[in-house]
Formats: sequence, structure tokens, C-alpha cells
Amino acid sequence: MPGFELFGDSERKELQDVLDNGVLMRYGFDGMRNGHWKAKELEKALQDKLQVNHAQLVSSGTAAVSVALATAGIGAGDEVIMPTFTFVASFEAIMMLGAIPILVDIDDTLTLDPKAVEDAITNKTKAIMPVHMCGSMANLDALQDICKKHSLILIEDSSQATGATYNGKPLGSIGDLGCLSLDFVKIITAGEGGAVLTNNEAFYRHADQYSDHGHDHVGNDRGAETHPFLGYNFRISELHAAVGLAQLRRLDEFVAIQKKNYSIIREALSHIPQVTFRTVPEGGEESYSFLSFFLPDLETSRKVIQAFKENGIDACWNYYDNNWHYIRKWEHLKTLKTLYPLSTKVKEGLEYLKSQTFEQSNHYIGRNISCLIKLSWTDEEVQERANRMYKVIHNILKNS
Ligand SMILES: *Cc1c(COP(=O)(O)O)cnc(C)c1O
Repeated sequence: MPGFELFGDSERKELQDVLDNGVLMRYGFDGMRNGHWKAKELEKALQDKLQVNHAQLVSSGTAAVSVALATAGIGAGDEVIMPTFTFVASFEAIMMLGAIPILVDIDDTLTLDPKAVEDAITNKTKAIMPVHMCGSMANLDALQDICKKHSLILIEDSSQATGATYNGKPLGSIGDLGCLSLDFVKIITAGEGGAVLTNNEAFYRHADQYSDHGHDHVGNDRGAETHPFLGYNFRISELHAAVGLAQLRRLDEFVAIQKKNYSIIREALSHIPQVTFRTVPEGGEESYSFLSFFLPDLETSRKVIQAFKENGIDACWNYYDNNWHYIRKWEHLKTLKTLYPLSTKVKEGLEYLKSQTFEQSNHYIGRNISCLIKLSWTDEEVQERANRMYKVIHNILKNS
């Protein structure tokens, strides 16, 4: 990760098709296209690759989450359970609909703790949204059981784990709805973009229409289409879809490269007894986008991160001190800094953030280090990096 590291001729060729006919929009203009429908083609390719009946492309991963929630009828005052460790997009997408993000603790999978999820369910809860962070997944069997028991919708955000599988099925294809991001730093990129995945025909129809101003997409005269309900514009462009199409064809290649690089580094670190690795739920296979491991405490993690920097080991994070991915630094959410007034329901619904501490999440995030696995490293670079990481951690633990 990310796919842009290996951007090349195939991406250029798909883009050139679009530039040659000049139709940058995914809908209409049938006569001018020379048969090129990149967004439609990418949707078909996503359905095949990720084993779902329907894929709806949208303009971003954040839009994908909002559209997914909307398709399931989730809105004002509804509660959506999500993890404390994710990208800020998760709560943004929920709040855009006037719904209320209910943040709950993670466990040693670095994703939703099913026990914490069950404790957070109220009569307002409508959906559970696990976020498969850093290339691995939540315990989806446990979450599916909870959803069945309480009649809740399961929405997977697999923006960071495209290419990973659970019980042999691609992430994003398992819940009622799945969301992907194709932004610039994801395993396959379109520059910007996202997708909603589902096997539910009605959800798909909603997503298709809602993401294009509520257009019914019947016939081939856009001007004559009716609007079954209100929508917005979350369309992807043909330019973005063209790049995504070329990248998706390389997903297996990217995962294989990551697995090779990940395995070399993991093997080196596994010789340090105090290092443990994140738990991957039984039946899960990572996308190997990151190697995530635990150190004995926060203090050690901070020292290791500092020493990594001094030793030229980039792209490793301890998210405890991170502004984008962990609740601890989301002051703007906790104090509700918005440009515009929020509904009373949302304000009241988020009161809990002023007082709730997430000790269990702090415990895991404080001790965790996640390192990005790059596609462009040579074998020598990976081995050299693995050796250096081993030495840095070994020295710090020896002196503490
Ligand atoms: C990147 C990301 C998103 C949002 O994707 P954008 O395409 O950047 O809007 C959502 N969730 C997670 C976990 C992400 O990593």
C-alpha cells in the first residue's frame, strides 16, 4: 500500500481512452463514448473481484459510508456504533445524515470489541459499523450474531483492508453493506473515489439513485428521468474510474507483494519475546497493508517511534498521539466545533463524549505500532529495514 507506488502503463491506457472521447461523466452521452463506460466497467469488476451482487461507485470513501447508511434508511437521531480507532471519516459520514456516532472500545484485533458493542446498544441503535483498520478485520461472526439478535444493520468499512478475506470471503461483501475508499493512499487508488457493496437489491437501487440527485436511471434520456426521492451528488468521474479499473486488476499482485514484505519484517520482530502481534480473527486473512504489533507499554512505544525516526524507519505510527485516527485527539468532535448549528438530537446524543474515557482502547492503542508495508521496496530494502527495526526495538527493551 498504496497502489500509487506502482502507477504505470495500464493506468495511463485506461485514462487515455477517456481523454480520447472526452466524456468525463459516467452517465449519458452514449453516442460520444466509443463504447467506453469506465465507471460501469469498474462496478462490474468490483462485483466479480469482491463477490457481491452490486457495487455502486461514489466520489469518496466518506461518501460511500454516508450513502450506505442512507440506503438503509438511517438518519436523524439514529445511533450507529463505530470504533474509537478509525479515520475521522467514520463519524463525519454518520453525522452528515443527522445520525449519532456511538464510539466504543476496540480490542487486540484493533477493531470493534464485540462485548463493548453489545453493551452500547440502545433502542435508538440502527447499525453496527466495524472498521477493518490497517489491513485486518473485526470479528465479523460475533458482530453478525449481535446484529441478528438485535435486528441491526451491519456496515463494513473496509477502506483500509481491500484484498483481505474472512472465512474465504472478501471484506466488504459480508455485512448488509460494505464500503471501500479508492483515495490516493489506499491499496488500489482512483485518485479519489469509493464504493458501496451489497447483495441487497433495494439497498443497491437506493445507492444508485441517491448518489445521483435521486435520478431513477430509467431509459437513456437524463432530462426525462424522475426522482423517486431526494438525493445528492456523490458521483465518481470517468477519469477516476478509469484509473481505479487498471488498479483493481492489480489487486492480487499488490496483496502478494505486501504479504512477502510483511512476512520478512514479521519474522525478524518475532525473535523479540516482548513483541506480540495484533490478533487476526479466526478465518481471517489480512491484506498485509500494515504490520501491527504491541510493545509492553505506551512509554516503550513512544521511545521506539522516536528511535525509528532517528534511524530512518519511516511510515510507522503509534496512534495514541495521532490527530486523524484515534479518539484521544479528536477535540473538534468532543467539543462539537461545526460551521453550522447541529440538531439538538445530535448534540444531546454526543454528550457522552465529554466524560467517557476509553481505557481499554488506550491500553491497546498506546502499546501498538503499525507500520505501512510498501509495494515499491526491493527485497534488500525490506530485509535491511527488518534488521534495523529489530535492532532498535531490541536496544530499547534491553535498556528499559
Ligand atoms: C480512507 C478512509 C475512509 C475515507 O475515504 P476517503 O475516500 O478518503 O473519503 C474511510 N474510512 C477509513 C477507515 C479510511 O481509511
